[in-house]
Amino acid sequence: MIQPADSWDFPPDAAEIVDWRALLADQGLDVALMAAFIGLALVSFHRKSVPLRYLTLAISVLYLGFAKSQLLSIVNVFSVFTWNLPVFRYSLAWYLFAGFGVVSTVLWGRFYCGRVCAYGALTQLLDRVVPERLRVDVPRSLERPASLVKYGILAATLAYFLATKDQTIYRYVEPFWMFGGQGTPVMWTALALLLVATVFVRNLYCRFLCPLGATLGVLSTMTVFRIKRWPECSTCRICEKKCEWGAIRGPRILATECIRCDDCERLYADTTKCPHWLILYRRKPSRQGTVLEAITAPLSAREQRTP
Ligand code: SF4
Ligand code: SF4
Ligand code: SF4
Repeated sequence: MIQPADSWDFPPDAAEIVDWRALLADQGLDVALMAAFIGLALVSFHRKSVPLRYLTLAISVLYLGFAKSQLLSIVNVFSVFTWNLPVFRYSLAWYLFAGFGVVSTVLWGRFYCGRVCAYGALTQLLDRVVPERLRVDVPRSLERPASLVKYGILAATLAYFLATKDQTIYRYVEPFWMFGGQGTPVMWTALALLLVATVFVRNLYCRFLCPLGATLGVLSTMTVFRIKRWPECSTCRICEKKCEWGAIRGPRILATECIRCDDCERLYADTTKCPHWLILYRRKPSRQGTVLEAITAPLSAREQRTP
């Protein structure tokens, strides 16, 4: 069918022509640096490397935090609810960052919290320099109910936003504005108190208060690649004691609380510490080989996943 000349065949509006070359020239460096950071985070994760993990955390604080002030926020959750997202072509690095945050959460759980979030990285680095004697261990009986507080904050914040459409509530429920240095004296005072409290209770905000962490925790219930466990984990408590996030309860790993820090995964594979390997080794005392030689055959059959 021939269309009338003045109906469908009009020339494109000049304002709608997208010059991708110019857009990439403007944003190419940001996209490349973001891709490099994500690559480093993934390598550190897959190699279970402690030095690479701390390098990732340091770069997160310096680059994503202080240089770019780029963190996922409860404001982004608001944006999803109102479908008011940034324009894709002007926000390529942000979409790479946010897309990775969501996809990595579905694949591995709260990977974003464990390696990418600049505030979480800052408190994890703080954790390494604070003397152990200053630590106050939250009793296990209190830890579980306290970890639910962040879900309450998420629900209350979302309800407030949906009722009022006021996004500025974010300033009172998350401290990420600190990287942009845009706080009032009251906000800075509250942040100072929070950081002092974090000296005594490790990762206080992330474990108990962060509504974005709660959002990612909910998303983590869909985690595809979960942490493996041995049958011995049902009685062994070594990993439970090691986990600084209160994410292990007996044989189970709570995907909602786990930030994929690798500590328990390194123990899982440690043939000198994990009882699974030690028991297997003891059962074959006459063998003169290594521990690995002793357990090679039954390994695949004994692997379990958390429910
Ligand atoms: S819990 Fe919140 S502050 Fe902590 S790492 Fe996750 S998103 Fe960042
Ligand atoms: S040390 Fe080994 S057996 Fe014990 S909880 Fe950790 S992975 Fe399980
Ligand atoms: S120790 Fe294990 S369960 Fe705990 S946060 Fe790290 S990876 Fe998750």
